[in-house]
Amino acid sequence: MDKEQPPAAQHHYRKRVELFRLIAKIKLWPSRLGILHGIRAIEVHGATALITTHCGRTLSANNSRSSRAARWLRNKRFIGVCGACGIPDWKLAKYNATRFHRHSGSQLHSQEAGRK
Ligand SMILES: [Zn+2]
Repeated sequence: MDKEQPPAAQHHYRKRVELFRLIAKIKLWPSRLGILHGIRAIEVHGATALITTHCGRTLSANNSRSSRAARWLRNKRFIGVCGACGIPDWKLAKYNATRFHRHSGSQLHSQEAGRK
C-alpha cells in the first residue's frame, strides 16, 4: 500500500444532523440547478443563514434537516461542480467518503463542529 496517499477518511454523520452544522463542516452547497458550490462564509442569524459561495453568490437558507439542500447533500445529489468556485479534489473526495446514517454517526455538537 502507498503510505503517501492514504484513502480519504470516512466521515459518518447522523441523517438528522442540522443543516447549518453540516454545511459549516463540509463547506459545500448544492444549488437548485444541481451545481455544487464551495462555501466561503456562513453567517447564521437564528434559524436563517446567509451563505456566500466562492464564486460570489449569496443566498439564505433555513436550518432545516428536511430542506431540499439538506436532502440533496445527504443523497449527494448534484449534476456538476461549479467551475468558478474551484472546489479542490480532496474536498470532493472527502464529501464522497461521507456517509449518513439513521442511527449512528456524529450529530455535530458545537464543540465538534468548531473543531478543525
Ligand atoms: Zn460556485
